[in-house]
Amino acid sequence: MDSFNKVENELFITKVRWLTIIGAPALLWFHTHEVIPQLLYLSVLMAFYNGIIQFYMLRKTGIYRFNVALSIIDTAYLAYFYSLSLLKGAGLPQMYYFLILVMGIRYGMARYHWMVILSSILYVCSTAAVNRFTGVSPEPVNLLLQVMFYTAFGLMSAYIFKRNYQQQLEKEDLLTELQAAYQQLCAYNAQVEEMANTDPLTGLYNYRFFTERLDKEIDLFNRINKPLSLIILDIDHFKDFNDTYGHPAGDIALKEVSRIFKKNIRDKDVLCRYGGEEFLILLPTTGIEEAYRCAERIREAVQHYPIKVDYNQEPLKVTISGGVACFPLDASNGEQLLRIADEVLYSAKHKGRNKIHRRL
Ligand code: GH3
Ligand code: MG
Ligand code: MG
Repeated sequence: MDSFNKVENELFITKVRWLTIIGAPALLWFHTHEVIPQLLYLSVLMAFYNGIIQFYMLRKTGIYRFNVALSIIDTAYLAYFYSLSLLKGAGLPQMYYFLILVMGIRYGMARYHWMVILSSILYVCSTAAVNRFTGVSPEPVNLLLQVMFYTAFGLMSAYIFKRNYQQQLEKEDLLTELQAAYQQLCAYNAQVEEMANTDPLTGLYNYRFFTERLDKEIDLFNRINKPLSLIILDIDHFKDFNDTYGHPAGDIALKEVSRIFKKNIRDKDVLCRYGGEEFLILLPTTGIEEAYRCAERIREAVQHYPIKVDYNQEPLKVTISGGVACFPLDASNGEQLLRIADEVLYSAKHKGRNKIHRRL
């Protein structure tokens, strides 16, 4: 049994023990109409000890220990009580129910037969001992019946506890499996979502992600009333670059310019690969002037950047052209914003490339 279950079981036992501590002297008084001070003192002591176990050891620290010591104390208390009841002529072996129940819960079915044998021996021995000193004795048939009765009672309680425990274990196993599966699913989901939003070559966001963010940013404008800008960038004569240096060199150039873009934007800006050698940068809460300056900074950085390719001694260079548009200055929706930015990019290309244009 794991420690949690042991603590739970022992807590249950302490509750049954409360009943016994109060019930035992009451039962004896009921039969004999006599208050026995020794029994009262002992019961107070037991109540104190039971309280410490229940409230400190089990509830506060959650530690379950001293299995055997607790069993011995319980047994001794009940043996004393039983002997006393016999001495007083009451003969109240019913308290052995408690002992059998406690042992069944505490030791479970596996070692239960030993507990039953021990408790029965104790029961018979204490009866015999009292009989020797006082001559008081229950009928042997009654004695046998009692022992059988306790055994059945204890077995039943141990069985119920074991079954409950197994059901709980099964539930916990199922829950653990379910949690693990759920976590795996979440991880897969995150992975799939990332894959769905990412361009595999550059690691940038893709156009799908961009459109989602553009819609959100335009929605946000309605609330905070701050403009947002869009930069579209396109590598100049990239087809020629590929034709001259090869497609792998073109791939390296795409990755390198992506890094330059990333370095020159803010965390809140959204950079994505539009497709081929075209890129989009969404700049939330940014006006046209600031966006233009940002695009210029990037263009400058790209034109001077040496792209190193293994099989070429000299580092290669590329230039970019760009178009900048601002919402709501140039457009009244996202689609229009993208179209305007594309138009001004086209004009930058026409005016000789390596330029950033905006609507005049
Ligand atoms: P412009 O200055 O007018 O933009 O000319 P351009 O050659 O850059 O434009 P064009 O649209 O004619 O050619 C784009 C080239 O980009 C063609 C294609 O081979 C190249 N390209 C697109 N995607 C990739 C890629 O993933 N890797 C590589 N290496 N090249 C790519
Ligand atoms: Mg191009
Ligand atoms: Mg192009």
